[in-house]
Amino acid sequence: MKIAAFLSCSALFMATLASAVAPDDPNKIDTCVMPGVVAYTFDDGPGAYNDQLLAILAKKNVKATFFVLGEMIDENAAQAGALKKMLDAGHQLASHTYSHSNLDNMTDEKREQEMTSTSDLIFKHAGVRPRYMRAPEGSCAEACTKFMTSKGLVISHWNVDTNDWRFTGEDPQVATENSMKAIDDVVIAKSDPKTDSFILLQHEIHKFSVDFLADRVIDAILKKGYRFVTMEECVGEKAYLDGSVLPSASTSASVSGGATSSPTATVSGTGVPDKSKDVNSAGTAVMAGWTTTLALGAAALCMSML
Ligand SMILES: [Zn+2]
Repeated sequence: MKIAAFLSCSALFMATLASAVAPDDPNKIDTCVMPGVVAYTFDDGPGAYNDQLLAILAKKNVKATFFVLGEMIDENAAQAGALKKMLDAGHQLASHTYSHSNLDNMTDEKREQEMTSTSDLIFKHAGVRPRYMRAPEGSCAEACTKFMTSKGLVISHWNVDTNDWRFTGEDPQVATENSMKAIDDVVIAKSDPKTDSFILLQHEIHKFSVDFLADRVIDAILKKGYRFVTMEECVGEKAYLDGSVLPSASTSASVSGGATSSPTATVSGTGVPDKSKDVNSAGTAVMAGWTTTLALGAAALCMSML
């Protein structure tokens, strides 16, 4: 978990920087198809604070989307059980790959392992196969994009980032204030619910982020006049691959196709470039493209594999 968390921290910051300068790519969703909504997304779980976060979301009547890691699901039964809780509470389950490795630095065969093993785990524990995926580091260049879209997957980016992982070493209240800065600057000060929408990135594996930040974010965004939605509603594409919601796990073999029955054994331990060393302190990037609203309507569906 610590490795995953560390990698995710560095990766997401790099991705945020990259997203601020990269041209819009219609295959990478970073805003919703309608104004006035915010898709609240939590990456890198299911983590130790998942139950607490679910309670906060329930209290606020907010539905979120969780981009989970196969590695985290595998770590223990409690985290695996979290998937069903999230689904039953009305949240959306989505894939963040198995090992949080950079998808651009691997072959299609390896990409398939990453996605299929995670899909298998989510299906095993919650009975669904996510259609939405988020690339670690936000890195999914041409070959990766081609692969993901060929599987009918929606590549999910974001356009506002709490950067919460950056502040984990600080006092929780200070960290909360720092993480709120992007929300205040971008969503509260400069946006208009009549024209704008957001995909908001946060993490469920950092204590202060659940203890304090989630409440603050929700209250501020609701006060501004936005409505929280899942990625499914934000993008307008179905949350799960067709035919994946089956009555029992016993039918999983017919859905998973050629997927291995023990996916966890094959995908761990992949080397990941530690880009955190390249991260500088110019952490001002928050916005990715505002205008990309295209969903992956034409994406081919290859449900036999994922
Ligand atoms: Zn991540």
